[in-house]
Amino acid sequence: MNDIELADLYQELIVDHNRRPRNFRRLGKATHKAEGFNPLCGDKVKVYVDVENDIVRDISFEGEGCAISKASASLMTESVKGKSKVEVEQLSSRFRALATGTGNGAGLGKLAVFGGLRAFPARVKCATLVWHTLRAALEHASGVVRTE
Ligand code: ZN
Repeated sequence: MNDIELADLYQELIVDHNRRPRNFRRLGKATHKAEGFNPLCGDKVKVYVDVENDIVRDISFEGEGCAISKASASLMTESVKGKSKVEVEQLSSRFRALATGTGNGAGLGKLAVFGGLRAFPARVKCATLVWHTLRAALEHASGVVRTE
């Protein structure tokens, strides 16, 4: 995939997931949850997770923020559903490496489009916020996660 194709795909996915966010709801029976806040942009997100036998059986989010934060949260929920906590942790590390420009996006599927963010360092936290929040939820951390 060349840079222009990647940029188009990025645009398309962000617009689509921002307009029709997947798993955008409160989860009735969440075993884990956490809130995240990115003061740099004003993005707020709540992540609800239902974990059974170390597998993410269901996941959802609520919140308000920019298109990137919402699309990232939407794509995150799609990507981790059905995965084990260990697999989620690996995805999370790969995603952060990709967004900050130290990783190449291998094994990330659709999430690889966020590799385009390295050209916009100020927006990296918009995309990683939901992943920080997911990690906090899975670790049972309480309180609000802040990117700053
Ligand atoms: Zn943002």
